[in-house]
Amino acid sequence: MNTDAELRIERDKPLQALNTLGFSQTADYFIESGSNEQLVAALSYAQSRGWPVFILGGGSNIVLTRNLPGLTIQLTNQNIQYDPAGNEHLTRVTASAGVPWHNLVTDTLEKNLRGLENLSLIPGSVGAAPVQNIGAYGVELQSRLTRVQALHIDSLQWREFTQSDCEFSYRHSFFKKHANQYVITEVEFELGNCHDLHHDYASLAAHLSSRGITQPDARQISESVIATRQARLPDPARLPNAGSFFHNPVVSRAQANQLTEEHPGIVTYDAGSAGIKVSAAWMIENLGFKGIRRGNVGVHDMQSLVLVHHQQGTGDELLSLANEIAESVMEHFGIQLHIEPTVL
Ligand SMILES: Cc1cc2nc3c(=O)[nH]c(=O)nc-3n(C[C@H](O)[C@H](O)[C@H](O)COP(=O)(O)OP(=O)(O)OC[C@H]3O[C@@H](n4cnc5c(N)ncnc54)[C@H](O)[C@@H]3O)c2cc1C
Repeated sequence: MNTDAELRIERDKPLQALNTLGFSQTADYFIESGSNEQLVAALSYAQSRGWPVFILGGGSNIVLTRNLPGLTIQLTNQNIQYDPAGNEHLTRVTASAGVPWHNLVTDTLEKNLRGLENLSLIPGSVGAAPVQNIGAYGVELQSRLTRVQALHIDSLQWREFTQSDCEFSYRHSFFKKHANQYVITEVEFELGNCHDLHHDYASLAAHLSSRGITQPDARQISESVIATRQARLPDPARLPNAGSFFHNPVVSRAQANQLTEEHPGIVTYDAGSAGIKVSAAWMIENLGFKGIRRGNVGVHDMQSLVLVHHQQGTGDELLSLANEIAESVMEHFGIQLHIEPTVL
């Protein structure tokens, strides 16, 4: 029989330092799990008590509006394993969920493995990366990931997900659709020279060009991604935020044509068979929200997609501002904005 002491369960754990928005809720019960055995024991213990379970990564994509009931589990395994992938141009990289995402990026680049450079400096953990299919500067996780290992929370059965099992789409996956049903414990990638380098994204290309680089290697792309992100996005350690707060909505080509006629200058991107992606940042800025402040929360003054928490605020205040923005976008553009982070 496991006891609180053996599992090192903490009560009323303050979460302020464990979410990048810096909201000051607590977890009723909290545990760091460093192995699969510990994870199974923690989940069994929660089940025996009838507690709900929440899996917390780096807390960079959540909005806390209340204290978390039941058991909050943070995975701390930090293994990265390199194996041949059956192809001389690729290496199989297996990383455990607790590895900080950017550490994986730098480790693989140090080993001269291409593939994750455009995803440099995205906050959070490896385990959370498949949940919203992280993406940046023209690359999404789904094009690099080959396998996910996860534990079903209710049945405690292990399951292997192939890339297609993960049902990835823009900032979405099987795991987002079935929230709180699986704990991702390990993610596998195939990295190496088979991956083309992507450096045509406008701000990335401009930064490389400012360095006089026309044929960058993966490390140079990573350096420029890091510099560009640092110049454009607020550091959560100094101004708490959760990155982009809204998805860029995807509309039909007909709707996009109509929007362009009614709102010359509106920024859109071709999203292939999905339709046309409309820049949420452009619409928010166009409506005058950029840099505004509502009490303890606001919209960042350089990046209108990022909502910020100045201090002493609450998740509810932030959501109220998000609703105000979404209603205004609906009224003026007829488009529904959707919130990206998980609201708890
Ligand atoms: C400044 C800033 C910039 C950002 N830029 C980007 C960007 O460019 N692109 C992008 O895609 N995202 C970006 N994000 C969002 C965020 O970094 C990613 O969504 C990241 O993957 C979240 O990881 P996390 O470990 O912090 O997850 P958390 O915030 O802890 O959790 C997010 C969700 O994932 C679930 N989860 C966490 N770990 C696991 C697990 N092991 N198994 C199952 N479920 C799990 C949680 O339950 C929760 O529902 C940014 C965030 C910030 C603050």
